[in-house]
Amino acid sequence: MAPRAQTLPDFDPSPHRPALEGIVRAVAERIAEGALDADALDAILRRHPREGRGFFSRSQIIAAYRAWFEDDAEGSLGIPGEAFLAGVQRRPVRTQSGVTPLTVLTKPFPCPGRCVFCPNDVRMPKSYLSDEPGAQRAAANRFDPYLQTWNRLAAYRAIGHPVDKVEIIVLGGTWSFYPEAYQVWFAARCFEALNDFGAGLDGRGAVAPSAPVFDALPARVDGREHEANPYNRLVTAFLSERLSGVLVPPSETAAWERLEAAQTANESAACRNVGFVVETRPDHLSEEEVVRIRRLGATKVQIGIQSLDDAVLAANQRGHDAGASRAAVARLRLAGFKIHAHWMPNLLGSTPEGDVRDFARLFDDPAIRPDELKIYPCSLIGSAELMRHHARGDWRPYRHDELLDVLASALARVPGWCRVTRVIRDISSDDIVTGNKLTNFRQLAEREVARRGGRCRDIRAREIRGDDFDSDRLALRATVYDAGVAEEQFLEFATPEDRIVGFLRLSLPRAAGFLPEIAGSAMIREVHVYGASLGLGDRADDRPQHRGLGGRLVEEAARRAAAAGFERLAVISAIGTRHWYRRQGFESTGLYQQRRIG
Ligand code: SF4
Repeated sequence: MAPRAQTLPDFDPSPHRPALEGIVRAVAERIAEGALDADALDAILRRHPREGRGFFSRSQIIAAYRAWFEDDAEGSLGIPGEAFLAGVQRRPVRTQSGVTPLTVLTKPFPCPGRCVFCPNDVRMPKSYLSDEPGAQRAAANRFDPYLQTWNRLAAYRAIGHPVDKVEIIVLGGTWSFYPEAYQVWFAARCFEALNDFGAGLDGRGAVAPSAPVFDALPARVDGREHEANPYNRLVTAFLSERLSGVLVPPSETAAWERLEAAQTANESAACRNVGFVVETRPDHLSEEEVVRIRRLGATKVQIGIQSLDDAVLAANQRGHDAGASRAAVARLRLAGFKIHAHWMPNLLGSTPEGDVRDFARLFDDPAIRPDELKIYPCSLIGSAELMRHHARGDWRPYRHDELLDVLASALARVPGWCRVTRVIRDISSDDIVTGNKLTNFRQLAEREVARRGGRCRDIRAREIRGDDFDSDRLALRATVYDAGVAEEQFLEFATPEDRIVGFLRLSLPRAAGFLPEIAGSAMIREVHVYGASLGLGDRADDRPQHRGLGGRLVEEAARRAAAAGFERLAVISAIGTRHWYRRQGFESTGLYQQRRIG
């Protein structure tokens, strides 16, 4: 495998941030255009010289990328991190996770939440800001799911990035509040774009986006002026005025049959969907909603827990309590979903000490224990109602040392089976009225953990990425933990240095649950093997997923489930992984695939 890029150990990019950030963004743009050659890079470096000392080196650009952009799984640069590094280092593009993430946004739409910290950018789906790069891409495509997906695939392919295994991440407001027919249409259009692109078809000419141009919406929200739910009022009025009295026109709806046909076609498409993610509120995850999300093809849910302190939730007008989060997590777990929680320190009514205690509950409480976690300290945005509280002196952003303590304490507590995907939301500093504007806080917090003599053990800190390893020295380890409605077994292949090469999440439910199809079955919630994403016909036997690690993890899970008395093993497979599971002996039983064990 190609070695990882080396960065200069004694180079601190912080003092050079404006120049280096400009270089990173310009390089990313050239890569996206397929136009980064040595001349283009030289021109960029000349435009952003190092004050009085010549030009920055490739290693220094990479150091800047790692400091400020690497954490952004959803790609604020507009290209995957692997493509950026490959472009700067001039080596072939490969994804280290084996999967290409593709983010799509739903259109602006009312949200049932009234959260005081939430931005009210009426040009965007609730909680997003129109100067975020991913949001700008969505707006340029009029929030049309087909155009967003197809154009993103084209951009990836233009830079030589593999597009055979794609994870669709649907962002925007509260997914479960959009009408079912819109949800079905949105998912179907994503699958249709994958299928068309893989087949060399371009259906963009037939797309006439129904969503209005939200930039034409003149109203801007000032968070200091009290008004109940201004976003919902303005967006509802704008949509119904432009769409003849409805919020969702017939052209943005579809029947389930259309989605199911697109899903079936995707099973053998050249661009396969290997993960489908939606984000929603805990109090909207009823059993019926969980089933609906599964029918859409979802495998993971991003769930806004934000806090487990009922007083803090009430102060921020979340509209649900911690009990709703526990109930939602239980339903998702029983249905086999991967659970990606969002947690927010520095909310209205919280304190640094209270946040340290609250974070501990995420993992001390068996009813929560998420698989993945985003830690987004509350930021003050001009359109959010939090502005009024700030003006009255009810809320202030934590000082640097307070935030550092909260985040370092938090990261040190994360167990080895959870992946912290992001620390600090990448909001433009122009949007933050006051408070922390550093986006490399994760690195600062990790350094603080090390300074205190601790070590971050979450998956992201240990995953092998593109590094070399000796497959003969891998150990298969199991961590068993209580997750309330199920016993969880986290199986991992790890190097002697504790680096993860692949893992599997096995859930052994303690109750029958609400899905008759999988009553009495053990459940594989996730199989992940690191290594370059390869074209479907490629062979590269030095890469983990071609060494059979995934199959060995499944066999170990089957053995353990049988030993625990289960007669069937189910898997929440993504549409595009169904073939792989068939080869492992699973057959489709409806929403899941299963095989007999024991
Ligand atoms: S539920 Fe989410 S999107 Fe809706 S107001 Fe609250 S934070 Fe914003």
